[in-house]
Amino acid sequence: MRREAERPPGALSFFVYGADGGWLASSLPQTPGSMSNADREYFRRHRESADPQPYLGPLVISRSRGKWILTLSRRVQASDGRFAGVVLATIDAEYFSGFFSRFELGRDGAAALFRTDGTLLTRQPFIESQAGRNFADLALFRQLLPRAPAGTNWITSPFDGVTRLNSYRRAERYPLVIAVAVSEQEALAVWRREIVIRSLATALVMVVIGFLGLRISRQAQRRHQVEKALAESEGSFRLLAENSSDMVSRINLEGKRTYVSPAAERLLGLAAATLIGRPANEFIDAEDQPAVEQAMGRLRTGELREATVTFRLHRAGQETLWLESAIRTTHDPRTGEADGAVAVSRDVTERRLLEQRLAELASTDGLTGLANRRAFDDALQQEWRRSTRTGQPLSLLLLDVDRFKQYNDSYGHQQGDECLKAVALAVRSMIRRAGDVAARYGGEEMVLLLPNTATTGGEEVAEKLRAALQAQRLPHAANIPFGVVTASIGVAGVTPELQAEIGPGALVAAADSALYRAKHEGRNRVVLAT
Ligand code: GH3
Ligand code: MG
Ligand code: MG
Repeated sequence: MRREAERPPGALSFFVYGADGGWLASSLPQTPGSMSNADREYFRRHRESADPQPYLGPLVISRSRGKWILTLSRRVQASDGRFAGVVLATIDAEYFSGFFSRFELGRDGAAALFRTDGTLLTRQPFIESQAGRNFADLALFRQLLPRAPAGTNWITSPFDGVTRLNSYRRAERYPLVIAVAVSEQEALAVWRREIVIRSLATALVMVVIGFLGLRISRQAQRRHQVEKALAESEGSFRLLAENSSDMVSRINLEGKRTYVSPAAERLLGLAAATLIGRPANEFIDAEDQPAVEQAMGRLRTGELREATVTFRLHRAGQETLWLESAIRTTHDPRTGEADGAVAVSRDVTERRLLEQRLAELASTDGLTGLANRRAFDDALQQEWRRSTRTGQPLSLLLLDVDRFKQYNDSYGHQQGDECLKAVALAVRSMIRRAGDVAARYGGEEMVLLLPNTATTGGEEVAEKLRAALQAQRLPHAANIPFGVVTASIGVAGVTPELQAEIGPGALVAAADSALYRAKHEGRNRVVLAT
């Protein structure tokens, strides 16, 4: 027993009592011989009951050591069933205090060991006045324990009025209940501290998130603004392109259209969408193609930054259209390399026709509709050069109406004009070939330039003309002896290749002197220059 008692934790003691309560043996160093434990509650219990089960007694003060102890006892029985005494084991209450104090129960925490009948066996902190008292009317014994062998509840202590988190568990082999309580304050202290830290951390995270969110939102706002500005500028450019009466085309490096503004519909009679992906030089007049190609080539090589070309367009079933295109090369803003061209094209058909009409007016005589003097001079220069090249002869007829001053005097100036128109008609009727030019040389003098015509041929035409005029029989009483409008014609011929030194002026002069002679020789005749 002593060996057993000395084993750690050294809080156990063992005793054997005889039937009369006298001490028979113990684990103490010296077993007192004169003491009796017959008055102890457990002793009386075992003496009166044959129950062989161990009995857990209430807390008592040790007789031998004067300390609070817990008792566990058993009846000893003789072979005939008579009561023969009690064996007792004690555990120092201090041991429990020490054991319980190893748990961090906090300042207001408590741990208690009860018998299942509510008797307090030990408690930490130890309150002497309560030792051995019965607490059977506590909620723990009246309500909780009958329902469950273990549990956790909020309980306000009847000992000190502190609200505690109470956990209890009934021992399985012994009629014991252990209850441990931690005050609400302390139980939640860690949680509270943690909550504060977590709240601070959460707040910090929220501030960071808020800050980031603000930045993102600001960035998004900025991007939105940039996008809006971009859309607006693109929109206004589109507005310009789409509402311009000029057709705006974007042409890629392969010469295909990648964008065509809606003006195409009005200009070309073709929907813009149908032109996309098609060659930009489609429909261009074959005669104008080289000029357009040349301009495009010079743009491609960088020789020109912008070129303006005017060309004719032919579309099936539509009138020929004159277009003027301002073409500009475009460059990739990042690499700076040419990436295509933009062409702004407008309909210049009306302007072209006007120009043609003006050119016509500038070279035509208003009264007779023949070429005017300036146009004749140009034609003469041109034909002279051409004949020089080709070696062909060139003939010139110079015609002057006979006694026209008198015609005016007798029939009036207006009638004179009518007469000139009739003469012009006769002159024009002599034109046979594409190169022939009939012109009003001045006043009532007209010329007929006949390329590729030798002098004899010119003389024949002159004679025909003279006769044709007379045959019109326009009355001219003062033109004695003919009585009708007649004209004298001087004819000069030359082969410019052979007589290059004389020049076109000399040809006119020769015809003029022939005409002068015709007048002298009696008018209404053809005279060949010598
Ligand atoms: P000749 O037979 O010698 O040529 O006699 P002519 O009267 O024709 O003489 P000349 O050639 O010198 O006279 C030309 C006249 O033609 C002078 C002018 O009154 C007239 N004349 C010139 N231009 C016009 C014109 O545009 N309309 C009219 N009605 N008369 C014109
Ligand atoms: Mg004259
Ligand atoms: Mg005359």
